Amino acid sequence: MSETLGHWVHGAAWDGTSTRTAPVYNPALGTVQKQVRLASTADVDAAVTATAAAWPAWRDASIAKRTTVLFAFRELLNARKEELAAILTAEHGKVLSDALGEIARGLEVVDVACGVGHLLKGTYSENASTDVDVYTLRQPVGVVGVISPFNFPAMVPMWFFPIALAAGNAVVLKPSEKDPTASIWLAELLREAGLPDGVFTVVNGDKEAVDALLVHPDIRSVSFVGSTPIAQYIYTTAAGAGKRVQALGGAKNHMLVLPDADLDLAADAAVNAGFGSAGERCMAVSVVLAVESIADELVAKITERMATLRTGDGTRGCDMGPLITREHRDKVAGYLDIAASDGADVVVDGRGVEVDGAADGFWLGPTLIDRVPLESAVYRDEIFGPVLSVVRVPGYEEGVGIINASVYGNGTAIFTNDGGAARRFQREVEVGMVGINVPIPVPVAYHSFGGWKASLFGDAKAYGPAGFAFFTREKAVTSRWLDPSHGGLNLGFPQNA
Ligand code: NAD
Repeated sequence: MSETLGHWVHGAAWDGTSTRTAPVYNPALGTVQKQVRLASTADVDAAVTATAAAWPAWRDASIAKRTTVLFAFRELLNARKEELAAILTAEHGKVLSDALGEIARGLEVVDVACGVGHLLKGTYSENASTDVDVYTLRQPVGVVGVISPFNFPAMVPMWFFPIALAAGNAVVLKPSEKDPTASIWLAELLREAGLPDGVFTVVNGDKEAVDALLVHPDIRSVSFVGSTPIAQYIYTTAAGAGKRVQALGGAKNHMLVLPDADLDLAADAAVNAGFGSAGERCMAVSVVLAVESIADELVAKITERMATLRTGDGTRGCDMGPLITREHRDKVAGYLDIAASDGADVVVDGRGVEVDGAADGFWLGPTLIDRVPLESAVYRDEIFGPVLSVVRVPGYEEGVGIINASVYGNGTAIFTNDGGAARRFQREVEVGMVGINVPIPVPVAYHSFGGWKASLFGDAKAYGPAGFAFFTREKAVTSRWLDPSHGGLNLGFPQNA
């Protein structure tokens, strides 16, 4: 019998009452490693109730106490990151070096959360009216829900929970059922770091668990990351139930290469950002917009580099691992047939890749499709796999026009040596995160992460200053300490004097 992973409630593993489970694969082997429990509505209710009971004591813990726990968590995670990386590689498939990169980007957010004392300072206006002071406080929201996707099982939860905890909230995390072990591992580490029992809860599950969280009366906010249709559903449902919501959705990221760009740099960037993590990144470059005069040369340089990539088991020093499930692998591979029937040129076909790994792994090699028509599903859909499309454009204007017409607006990049063109691009492009000669412009943790349009529902980005604002409520206090006189009765609207 394989292991069955449960939930994490009140500082301990908990099985709940639901008997429904889902398989968790090792995608490089193509075999089921364990089962994960799928919580029922009643399980979610019990888990949230336990978290709500633990919250007041954590809310009232001093900033010094909360920071001490986060700092200890940071040190433990840094010391044991290889252990977590091995879990990520075993369940997601990404290569070990990429798994360590994911953890490093999560640790950055923990670093910022350790500075919560500075970030939660309020404001103070002395004598706003005669003998009256006005000041603002930032207080925690309460029990906050986080629902995360499969592609960053450690980093995406860490975009939210360090800041939420630092600000004095309690957290209920519902990770992806496809790779749930990292969340339980992180929960154990938080306990070891001194987080009081009950303040961090993990509920494993699928739609039933998510739906229960979205409307639970004790859940005050929902932070979601996943595909666009689900993000839109989460936003509508949770906002309709009166919650604060930030729902980050899917993406189709364009990289515009102008004729004056360093084409070697651009080709390196396209390959790294197109095929890293097998293209299963919301900030992956999926479309290269190549200005026609340099398009042949750029495609040749990209093709040359792709020939050097090794696809295989993430534990063997390969460049690129498998896709998350067999179904997803087949769906992504299906776009090669669509490309051919839509008249695009399949330059590199990843279906024939030679793999350094088990025969049953969910493999698809790096794939390059040139001259992709804008009407093709290959261009329109978020494929979320190692498929890089090239669209040839006459010049800058047409390139920006295509990017701005996209329903998505997560990330984009321009490659050029012309500062004026780059400056114009950063101003004109309708996308939330922009790279200039940088392909995956994920902002550092003291800025905030989030896209525009169908890549983010709600108005709050993740982490950085936006994260602290999302996980706190501002309270304005108007205060007067009476000296022996007092004002007498006046039913008019208060006016300052
Ligand atoms: P997904 O939308 O299938 O799942 C995300 C979460 O929602 C999971 O926890 C899942 O259990 C839950 N879920 C799935 N179907 C649901 C339903 N019908 N009702 C309620 N909950 C449901 O996404 P995924 O496949 O895990 O992740 C890949 C997607 O996430 C891609 O679209 C990618 O672009 C996106 N993503 C976006 C960002 C970003 O910052 N914008 C970051 C990472 C991933």
